[in-house]
Amino acid sequence: MSQAAKLYEGKAKILYATADPEILLTVYKDDATAFNAQKRGQIKGKGEINCQITAALFAWLGSKDIPTHYLDCPEPNQMRVKAVEIIPIEVVIRNIAAGSLCRQTGLPEGKILATPLVEYYYKSDELGDPLLTRDRIFLLDLVTPERLAEIEKMAREINKNLQSFFDKCKITLVDFKLEFGIDRQQNLLLADEISPDTCRLWDQKQNDPQSRVMDKDRFRKDLGQVENAYQEVQQRVLTQLKL
Ligand code: UDP
Repeated sequence: MSQAAKLYEGKAKILYATADPEILLTVYKDDATAFNAQKRGQIKGKGEINCQITAALFAWLGSKDIPTHYLDCPEPNQMRVKAVEIIPIEVVIRNIAAGSLCRQTGLPEGKILATPLVEYYYKSDELGDPLLTRDRIFLLDLVTPERLAEIEKMAREINKNLQSFFDKCKITLVDFKLEFGIDRQQNLLLADEISPDTCRLWDQKQNDPQSRVMDKDRFRKDLGQVENAYQEVQQRVLTQLKL
């Protein structure tokens, strides 16, 4: 581990090479950022929690025929993944209006969307992750129309699976962000993470709009009890999966 080459350090994770060029090691950090890294902090134990939640959900999605880059966890905050080329598009799926959708459209927070909304954002910190249109995606040559259709289909399938899974955990999946990668054989794989850092999760056992928040909005909005919320999500997910 100590002699492994660091390939990339992001806001929440560090990526290392391994002896096998087909395999990379992701180390999840406790560092938390929001508003394009203008707000910074630490969430104690977050690295381990997000790694374990992602591993559990990726393994479960794999069993539902969703291909992912996940291999295994050599340490609680470390994940071995298949090397993929990440597509520079953040795919956001929304079931309920919240966050930037409300800010940009005026829709009231909490409005249930008749059909899940799939949106694409350009993965570029420099540009502030702007919302993309289909034509902009093709203009920038980010993916082909066929690949985009495949991404949308997989994103909707993942949403269907996760929505019913979280429902069983008494958690409402409001919205979440996915990233995809392409492996050496040109297969599309779900990549990155699915965790309280990348999802909006509302506790169905709480009615109050602040108490119900179980995700990074607790950090973004200084609601407190951030660690507890992340731990509670982990516990419910692992219990539901009987892990
Ligand atoms: N999201 C993310 N990374 C980003 C931007 C958004 O994981 O760089 C997630 C976010 O946690 C939420 C969903 O994508 O679950 C939709 O985020 P939104 O566009 O509403 O942006 P925000 O309100 O967080 O600025």
